[in-house]
Amino acid sequence: MPMWDDILGHEQNKEFLARLLQPGNRPHALLFYGPEGIGKKQLALRFAKTFLCQKPDEHPCGRCESCRLINLAEHSFAHPDFILVEQEAPGKDLKIEQIKEMSRQAAFAPALSGHKVCVIDAADRMTVEAANSLLKLLEEPPPNWMFILVASRLERLLPTILSRVIQLRFDQIPLALTQEALNRLGLERPELLARLAGGSLGAAVNLAAADAVSYREQALEFLEALPLAQPMRYVASQPWLESYDKQGGLLFTEMLLFLARDVLLWQNGLEEQIYNCDCTDRLRRLAASWPASHLKQAADIAQQAYQAIESNAGAKLVLETVVLKTDILRKEER
Ligand SMILES: [Zn+2]
Repeated sequence: MPMWDDILGHEQNKEFLARLLQPGNRPHALLFYGPEGIGKKQLALRFAKTFLCQKPDEHPCGRCESCRLINLAEHSFAHPDFILVEQEAPGKDLKIEQIKEMSRQAAFAPALSGHKVCVIDAADRMTVEAANSLLKLLEEPPPNWMFILVASRLERLLPTILSRVIQLRFDQIPLALTQEALNRLGLERPELLARLAGGSLGAAVNLAAADAVSYREQALEFLEALPLAQPMRYVASQPWLESYDKQGGLLFTEMLLFLARDVLLWQNGLEEQIYNCDCTDRLRRLAASWPASHLKQAADIAQQAYQAIESNAGAKLVLETVVLKTDILRKEER
């Protein structure tokens, strides 16, 4: 098998892709679809690099001219036969100019590797114009091109595009697999990290690096402190409210949202689905004292705060509002 072992799971898809490395009839276009954050794009990029490698038997060799021009670690792609179309920023649509820029390259034959590979990430975020422009390319693909579309929402792709691609479905990675990989990396609380990251290894590693567990702990302590006897005094005396920057504010509100979600799940007898699996006693106590309707509102407050901080509202002010609003909610009659 090629060197995709560090991408978790997806064994059948990896085997299918490994067969495409052999000469023979190859599809012009593939579509990788499935939930976010499970390695679809990583695998597409890795496959592209292996496919273009001048010694593909070495999967990829990492030394040939082709390999040196595709630097995955630095996300730097100088390879003339490799094109990556991706969102300019998270949440942005793919624009027709981006597809047209790619089409212009159709005039040029592959320069190094005999093939061109074009990865279109977030293909389900194409504008209608962009999608129609891509459709034209897929209808008459330039010789020796391979397109790989990556998408999480199949229903947002044009049926005419879907009919021209070989679809590879990617499933959620089993939690146990992510947990095992985190364990091998020597990270603490692998099960909690795996759950908080929804099974995505990359996201779990990022959460560990950002010390997400400490923000989770703070969010939990905050919920446990409610109702506050003296809200203003509480706000003035909490060092975390002072110290959290944008990143900290985002992590805190995200963890608060997860906790509210978990307590709701607990109330509904769905304990096995909770993220915060290491503090079930504390969740149970919260579940006993919070009415479900208030929990949903608390989750909304956290969600709105997350969005406000994301659009650059000051973390301190937003978090103070979260504290006061959630406290008022907690004091409301059932
Ligand atoms: Zn190579």
